[in-house]
Amino acid sequence: DQKSYTYSQLVASASKVSSILSSLNLKSIEEKNKCKNSSSEINVCGGRGYLDGARIGIVAKPSAEFVAGVLGTWLGGGIAVPLALSYPEAELFHVMNDADISMILCTEEHQELMENVATTCGAQFSLIPTVPSFSSKSSMPKVDVEDIETASIPKGEDPALIVYTSGTTGKPKGVVHTHQSILAQVQILTEAWEYSAADQFLHCLPLHHILTMIFVLVVEFMPKFSVRGIWQRWRESYPTDGRKVEDAITVFTGVPTMYTRLLQGYETMDLEQQAHSASAARQLRLMMCGSSALPYPVMLQWESVTGHRLLERYGMTEFVMALSNPLRGVRKGGTVGKPLPGVQVKILSEEGSENDSMGVGELCVKSPSLFKEYWKQPAITKDSFVDGGFFKTGDTVRADEEGYYIILGRTSADIMKVGGYKLSALEIEAVLLEHPVVSECSVLGLPDKDYGEVVCAVIVPEENAKRQRTEGFKPALNLGELQEWAKEKLAPYKIPTRLFTWDSLPRNAMGKVNKKELKEMLVE
Ligand code: ATP
Ligand code: MG
Repeated sequence: DQKSYTYSQLVASASKVSSILSSLNLKSIEEKNKCKNSSSEINVCGGRGYLDGARIGIVAKPSAEFVAGVLGTWLGGGIAVPLALSYPEAELFHVMNDADISMILCTEEHQELMENVATTCGAQFSLIPTVPSFSSKSSMPKVDVEDIETASIPKGEDPALIVYTSGTTGKPKGVVHTHQSILAQVQILTEAWEYSAADQFLHCLPLHHILTMIFVLVVEFMPKFSVRGIWQRWRESYPTDGRKVEDAITVFTGVPTMYTRLLQGYETMDLEQQAHSASAARQLRLMMCGSSALPYPVMLQWESVTGHRLLERYGMTEFVMALSNPLRGVRKGGTVGKPLPGVQVKILSEEGSENDSMGVGELCVKSPSLFKEYWKQPAITKDSFVDGGFFKTGDTVRADEEGYYIILGRTSADIMKVGGYKLSALEIEAVLLEHPVVSECSVLGLPDKDYGEVVCAVIVPEENAKRQRTEGFKPALNLGELQEWAKEKLAPYKIPTRLFTWDSLPRNAMGKVNKKELKEMLVE
């Protein structure tokens, strides 16, 4: 929101939160921390202060209270676990139980719901005190933060956060980040994308997403993604009379489906509003995209409307960001760029040997921003690392001749084995999306007794303007027509042999399609 807070106001509030936490029943913390000694290989908890690594669930919309909740937890030596209100109930309980949350800290608006959740899960509950806000920095009283207890302030290697993965391939996994790994990621991105105090970053991904956690202090949030809201915020940032607005948005990031929706929203505006919207968007410093593959047609259309070549990058909850197209220099469509400063990568072949950089294989990442472990999953943690501390991402990639990486997809869900060939679903999706009738699509391998797998496409037909503009295209698309069209663009063995036309694709909160689930639905 538009109110201002100073660092000292926040710290003072965090210190209040911390004293609330210090009144926690320590015995119950000991109980909850029993898991600490449950694994001989990896110490899953670890911490200091009176919270001694206890997990504190934080529920608030992106706000100063949210930040105070996290800082307060850290001051007491606890681990903050952001809980998303967008979680379906089952997922919320999964996280509550999996992380053994001792206490939920929440703001007033969610009190009723969260008190019930806490009671059901045997956790304690408390409200985060409101952080005083002021309309201008000059009207703020000075706060004394001298008397904060510093003995329990965590060290770099202490766990700071457990952030759950998006759950695209199964149940979300708790990824443990330390204070050090978070700081490293902030430093890496500040350098690569040249963040400064002058930036105003508009962010609309869910709060429990790792990138949000990294930027919680420097961004302006739009709690719910809204096409009209975003265009409007950009127009307000850059008025037509050329006036300079103090908190004008300078950086924006989104997932691919957001850009598709923003383009659809743009098409419905009148000409005058389109002109203002496009010129306002043009004045941002940087627009980025990630989380899943950015369809090339969307990238081109976005560039023609706003003049921005989207900066596509690649990340995971486990290390936040590892590969990125450059801020300055050539941003190559269909690639996620090169390793960020301080990040090392290697590609492992299926047999586990190291490929030369041109080969296809599993991407492995080493970075100071790497997570510490999967919460309570020592075996999975161990299996996820190879020699030299490289983390196996589970994503199949290759690099082009200039060293830009191309994501071929998740080894488990996007790499199909058809006859003797190994195919990338993402590569085929990218081609099908060029068809004027196809608005969204998901490609996957369905079991087949002759070929092992056959290529199956699920498409969502384009409903609006694009179809009307393209003369001679029938609204529906059958398999024969798609195959005929694809002949020119795909090798014969890559052309889908099964086609489903649906109204929408099942997507999670990050806009990703769970292919395992989709496959089960189709097989059934
Ligand atoms: P889970 O691990 O629970 O199945 P998830 O992997 O979707 O969920 P995240 O950590 O949010 O959870 O997502 C990381 C994954 O997103 C990567 O492993 C990769 O497959 C995909 N990804 C991220 N950025 C890109 C991109 N630019 N292009 C293609 N895929 C991407
Ligand atoms: Mg994952």
